[in-house]
Amino acid sequence: MIYIFCAPSGSGKSTMVKHLLTMHPDLFELSVSCTTRAPRGEEVHGREYYFISVEEFQKRIENDDFIEFEQVYDGLYYGTLKEEIDRIEAAGRQVLFDVDVKGGLNLKRILGDKATSIFICPPSIEELRRRLEGRGDTSPEMIEKRLAKAEYEMSFQPQFDKVVVNDDLTHAFEQLDAIIEDK
Ligand code: ADP
Ligand code: 5GP
Repeated sequence: MIYIFCAPSGSGKSTMVKHLLTMHPDLFELSVSCTTRAPRGEEVHGREYYFISVEEFQKRIENDDFIEFEQVYDGLYYGTLKEEIDRIEAAGRQVLFDVDVKGGLNLKRILGDKATSIFICPPSIEELRRRLEGRGDTSPEMIEKRLAKAEYEMSFQPQFDKVVVNDDLTHAFEQLDAIIEDK
């Protein structure tokens, strides 16, 4: 099974993915995407993302290397490499994707029953703002961009296989564990 995690930025996708990777390090592995944005905080090339230039990203589009890619924010590209699925499955692990809502729905359409799409829902837009500000690694301008997009992204929630409301963290982990155990 492949799990696709989607949510407005700041809702807790990374937190959910990290929980699964910590609880089951031999079972799951995160697909590392390419991005043209700069690394934030402690991010490392090849771990959180492959941080590449716009020129290199264009080259990889021309080579047909991506299963999907999006311009998620103005001028910033993100893309899922086809070779990531092969790499992780060859290692005997299940793939986790952390992608934006459009990319997630595209992946689900391509992968069909092989994948479960999971929408991580924030308790409210106000709480989403608090979390983005609290994370302390995103500029005020980018926070406004992400919040402006969040309400639009929330409207896609009914198209996902599963929804996890990330209010209380322990409760969110329980909902997620139940989804995984069900498969
Ligand atoms: P995303 O990957 O969706 O952008 P993150 O997982 O980075 O979101 O979470 C955004 C911020 O909110 C982080 O600082 C994280 O520690 C915090 N956070 C995540 N889940 C909760 C929760 N249930 N309650 C409070 N804070 C949370
Ligand atoms: P961030 O800059 O906060 O790491 O990510 C911004 C958004 O881009 C998040 O919603 C994240 O899930 C999404 N994203 C990351 N990688 C990909 C990808 O390969 N494809 C798509 N479509 N979105 C991605």
